[in-house]
Amino acid sequence: MPPTRVKAIILKKINYRETSVIVHLLSDTNGKIAGLMKGVRSTQKKIPPLAYQQGSCIEAFVYLKTKPGLELVTQPSVVNSFNFSGENLILWKKMLLTIDRFVPFARFNSNGIYDILFQTGLLIPRIKDHRAIEILVTERILFELGFGPFLEKCLICGSEENLSFFSGKLGGIICSRCQSKEPTSFKLPERHIQVLRFFQKIPVSQISMIKYIPEGLFANLMKCLNEIILYHISG
Ligand SMILES: [Zn+2]
Repeated sequence: MPPTRVKAIILKKINYRETSVIVHLLSDTNGKIAGLMKGVRSTQKKIPPLAYQQGSCIEAFVYLKTKPGLELVTQPSVVNSFNFSGENLILWKKMLLTIDRFVPFARFNSNGIYDILFQTGLLIPRIKDHRAIEILVTERILFELGFGPFLEKCLICGSEENLSFFSGKLGGIICSRCQSKEPTSFKLPERHIQVLRFFQKIPVSQISMIKYIPEGLFANLMKCLNEIILYHISG
């Protein structure tokens, strides 16, 4: 089979043997790929290190196999290096690791997830409050993967009233009447549910308008998302 041209963001890079690297690629339309770039660290090949650095967005050719496993990646070239430093680099790496942990190696249309990550990379230098990025990326990727959070009605009875409890196990909100049926649920202020809804709908490009997220709100929202992760994503 001829190689497929893909755009991808490098979620993880591991040096392999003398001159090669193994990369975890989040591609735009082919899901997550475990790729082998042969000999790229060899000085004779003259491939710029940014073309295989963690966090870079690249274009490359991938010899896609029908069975899962390492796939050969050739001719990587940089589309956007997202070459951050300091606090921005710490945040970027955290987001790359989160996505690498959430997304399985599988062939699927990963365009939604890819787009969120790519736009996040463009925005990082302009964002004042890093907590906003962390909530948005975590929430949106979970939703893209089908884990929720589901926030429109009680996940047990379907009621749209008194929605003041959250269950990571069920992946969203439940009403105060059903709360006793789900012992893992916990109380969540209604305005915090509204903020979760807000993060679900806001275009990623507009996140720079969020100036500040108070610590208590951040802790509560991340608790909701972490409960979903705990029950639905292993490792
Ligand atoms: Zn209910």
